[in-house]
Amino acid sequence: MFESLSTKLTSAMRTLKGKGSITDVNVASTIKEIRRALMDADVNYKVAKEITDNIKDQALGQKILIAVEPGQLLVKIVHEELTKLMGGEKQEINLKGDPAIVLIAGLQGSGKTTFSGKLAQHIKKSGRQVLLVACDIYRPAAIDQLKVLGEQVGVEVYAEPENKNAVSIASNALEYAKKMGKKVVIVDTAGRLAVDEAMMAEIEEVKKAIRPTETLFVVDSMTGQDAVNTAKTFNDRLNFDGVVLTKLDGDSRGGAALSIRQVVEKPIKFISTGEKMEALDQFYPDRMANRILG
Ligand code: GDP
Repeated sequence: MFESLSTKLTSAMRTLKGKGSITDVNVASTIKEIRRALMDADVNYKVAKEITDNIKDQALGQKILIAVEPGQLLVKIVHEELTKLMGGEKQEINLKGDPAIVLIAGLQGSGKTTFSGKLAQHIKKSGRQVLLVACDIYRPAAIDQLKVLGEQVGVEVYAEPENKNAVSIASNALEYAKKMGKKVVIVDTAGRLAVDEAMMAEIEEVKKAIRPTETLFVVDSMTGQDAVNTAKTFNDRLNFDGVVLTKLDGDSRGGAALSIRQVVEKPIKFISTGEKMEALDQFYPDRMANRILG
């Protein structure tokens, strides 16, 4: 096990004890240490630098000087800084509209279909009629997977296995939802193993056709810095409304959450912490700050 960020912060501050005051010179190595620790937790370099610059400004001020336990105070400052950078408060998805339409995008294997099932269950619990739509025209298995999940959570799944046009499936599904009085439509789209032009063009077309009230980008937290690059590519094309971070039951430190938020400037709205339908949580910036601090 590697040392947690908060342990590192506390011991880094210990080296400053007895130095009398905190100056640019004697704080430099501590700041470097914090930056390295943040990067160990998967925070990208630019973001880590921004954070440490802010921390340095605060540490050089009065706060640290009068502290009894400077290490703990530094942990608190970092916690506040991380929370603030991740948006401070939790953010809801927009379910206005009749029906509300949620478009789910992301790479293959990121956890889109699993999340679609979870979100359907989550919304259903609030008493709204949900329709799941299988728009993956390339992998018949993906349709079956969504049907199994739909059955599990008691939500109807709309699919047209013979139709090879994602835009037409999505549009037909919308018509069907209106006819059936569904209040929320969740559209699960096709992913690829890596970003590719045809996939991007297709999902862009689907988005234009159905005009979702909420577009969510799903990303695997275990993919570290790649997650940030993928998020940027998807956001440039789709201008999504929020991020879903999956597989946080793994040992990823959660720094990807911070980096993505900073790079695409979109809030993280949900986290997924397992394969079971119950393993879904709204995203709380302060809890993620705790995780990053370790
Ligand atoms: P999609 O290709 O984006 O639709 O991805 P899937 O929903 O099929 O998920 C890919 C794999 O990751 C499946 O085996 C899921 O059971 C698994 N998975 C999805 N979300 C999570 C999660 O939060 N934690 C873990 N451990 N596994 C997950």
